[in-house]
Amino acid sequence: MTNTQQPTATRLAARGPVNLVGAGLAGALLAVLLARRGFKTTLYERRPDPRETNAEAGRSINLALAARGIRALERAGVMDRIAPLLIPMRGRMVHDASGSASLQSYGQREHEVIYSVGRAALNRVLIEEAARHDNLAMRFNQTCVAASPENNTLRFQDRKHKTEFEVPLAPTIATDGAGSAVRLSLARANRVAVREDWLDHDYKELTIPAAPGGRHVLDANSLHIWPRGGFMLIALPNTDGSFTATLFLARTGPNSFEQLKNSVEVSEFFRREFPDAARLMPCLEKEFFAHPQGQLGTVHVNPWHVDGKVMLLGDAAHAIVPFHGQGMNAAFEDCAVFDSLLDRHDDWEPLFIELARIREPNSSAIAQMALENYTEMRDTVLDAGFVRRKAMAMELERRFPDRFIPRYSMVMFHPEIPYAEAQRRGALQHRILMELDTSGTRDPALAEKLVKDRLDPIRG
Ligand code: FAD
Repeated sequence: MTNTQQPTATRLAARGPVNLVGAGLAGALLAVLLARRGFKTTLYERRPDPRETNAEAGRSINLALAARGIRALERAGVMDRIAPLLIPMRGRMVHDASGSASLQSYGQREHEVIYSVGRAALNRVLIEEAARHDNLAMRFNQTCVAASPENNTLRFQDRKHKTEFEVPLAPTIATDGAGSAVRLSLARANRVAVREDWLDHDYKELTIPAAPGGRHVLDANSLHIWPRGGFMLIALPNTDGSFTATLFLARTGPNSFEQLKNSVEVSEFFRREFPDAARLMPCLEKEFFAHPQGQLGTVHVNPWHVDGKVMLLGDAAHAIVPFHGQGMNAAFEDCAVFDSLLDRHDDWEPLFIELARIREPNSSAIAQMALENYTEMRDTVLDAGFVRRKAMAMELERRFPDRFIPRYSMVMFHPEIPYAEAQRRGALQHRILMELDTSGTRDPALAEKLVKDRLDPIRG
């Protein structure tokens, strides 16, 4: 770096050490990015150090990683270590009630796949990468209990020694997840307004074990879905040959968690609704009662930052429902944008303001699209009209690749298109598809007219 480029980074860094609260997916990635730029950073995490515990022990929980997340991981220079953890999934394998399965491709080009990755393994690699930098300190077993912009303090509880201590707040990046303690503290002090919209559906993670020899018992390169109208089961592959299955089900009412109170009810429900999957789950009843029933919701926060002292990022700022597989991807994209803004700002406050300005509309868009995708996954994927329009969308993409890209593809495979733009273009495209579908014609000239009249060429 030349002397003329120095002042930007130097002035931000000169404001003292940076605190990061939460060494989950966003916190660990941001730690790598900040450390690479020479920031003196301390990363606080309430859990024990994953390098000292066996991350793979117990349940394996996986996530879908897509282009936005990959782009951020590449920016941090960690993709070569993460690539071996990934299993490509080229589409949804939809299992209908009769037991037959059909693949709906996610994209139509070779590289248009998403990847299943173990959460613990991914997190651990990021922490190992962060640990390579001397300017980064990692403090595990430290629970953040309060953040006070007024007193400029960040308070922690040391879980091992049962002591409390404080550090200066400014600047703190809070990546402490959907239940963020920093956010709660700021909300209690009336510095941010928070709205949490909980779904009336919960989830539970279960296992489809590997066959002897570590073989996958279902196609390993698909995301499996058993859509059943108001609820669904999904399964993503793990590198050890198992699948992590997740049941999404209403909390109360007919076909709900409330009705699954004992082993008989669980086994009858699965044999009735998912008989093919149930046969692959030998520990179903035991796991069902041993694993927690998780809640799902969308978190809206305004503003995301206070006084240039503290900024919420990742799920702490914008937790979303998981049906588009984008929560982590969006959190990683936050980190990449944060990193890019370090080049442009001398001070934390304008950086926080610009980061929120860029990211808020996009996180609102993906929050909304994720909610819509729940209906699509559990209901619409089996609908003949949906399948027909999806095929039409693929055809339009082949004919007009610079104007028409299916919304799912924009979100998953096109990080150069911001979420809000994907949502805007997606709405226009949806209308075009409905018009072509209801007109019942396959008139290529009409399709061309609608696409060219209504969709600008994509910039990116
Ligand atoms: P987290 O990963 O939750 O990390 C928060 C960290 O902060 C944790 O390490 C936690 O221990 C720590 N912490 C919390 N409180 C404190 C405290 N008080 N003091 C100190 N440390 C603290 N996203 C995808 O992109 N693709 C998917 O397929 C996908 N599937 C999902 C499936 C389910 C069922 C769920 C619930 C979510 C899914 N997500 C998915 C979303 C994804 O998990 C989150 O968006 C992502 O983990 C957000 O990262 P984060 O770092 O903001 O939060």
